[in-house]
Amino acid sequence: MSLEVFVLGTSGMMPLPGRFLTSAMVRRGGNLYLFDCGEGTQVSLKMLNLHWKKIDSIFISHMHADHVTGLPGLLMLSSQVDRNEPLYIYGPEKLKEYVESTRRMLDMYINYEIRYVTVSPGIMYEDDEFTVEAVPLMHTKPCFGYVMREKMRPGEFSVENAKALGIPMGPLWGRLQRGEDVTLENGRIVHPGEVLGPERKGVSFAYITDTMYLNYIANHVKDVDLLLCEGMFTRDLAEDAYEKKHMTSTQAAAIARDANAGKLGLIHYSPRFSNAELHFLRDEAKEIFENTVLCKDRMSFELKNAD
Ligand SMILES: [Zn+2]
Ligand SMILES: [Zn+2]
Repeated sequence: MSLEVFVLGTSGMMPLPGRFLTSAMVRRGGNLYLFDCGEGTQVSLKMLNLHWKKIDSIFISHMHADHVTGLPGLLMLSSQVDRNEPLYIYGPEKLKEYVESTRRMLDMYINYEIRYVTVSPGIMYEDDEFTVEAVPLMHTKPCFGYVMREKMRPGEFSVENAKALGIPMGPLWGRLQRGEDVTLENGRIVHPGEVLGPERKGVSFAYITDTMYLNYIANHVKDVDLLLCEGMFTRDLAEDAYEKKHMTSTQAAAIARDANAGKLGLIHYSPRFSNAELHFLRDEAKEIFENTVLCKDRMSFELKNAD
């Protein structure tokens, strides 16, 4: 399976012309997962023409306006499609209160069930195919980063081996692919290892904003294929960053380097930098971590398995 990551916005604090608030959408199979939802997130979704009205889960980092004020509108517009499944919203405490009180005040019509999950550090979602871990960050409010990892997948099925072993094509192949032993008509038992190659690594994605630099973040985002990470300030503003509990792009790069990330995508830029100045953030980060990308609104990444 592959993951597609769409950067919906890259601005921190306030939306700017051509630079919406920081948010990302992950598409996996037919499912959509949204990370943060500031004002205007819907506009980027519309521009990308994703079928976004049916989002599976929303992950909110923290309760600052630049990360949540787009949520009520998005929930309301999501009512335009039929859905039977609930929508899950993960985030810190007060998220439920915020959404529910807005919903009441505005008499919002929402035709599906919303299930709120108050996040605590650790694996907070797991199914057969992937996990999502919440990473505690250090900001002026309780804040979490999120790491989405596909699980190891069974190795490639060798048709050659299967034929050589005399396994008839059909349901037995499927069972072996699912990791089950099968018994042939002649009584021979075939183990999955005889027809499957080595297990294959899944792809992974991390979303880290807003936070001061913490050296343990690297442990949580170890080996991710794509790390979207705030790089709000240039190095000369490190003190400012520390006071406001944000990071410089060089600190983001240090995390990517220590984590052995595949790629670093910078997000959540300070509005003090004009578009023409943003490259300073990337240039400084590249000195530490070469594979750094200055994310732009609606840029997308495809994370694919090696095979
Ligand atoms: Zn922010
Ligand atoms: Zn914040």
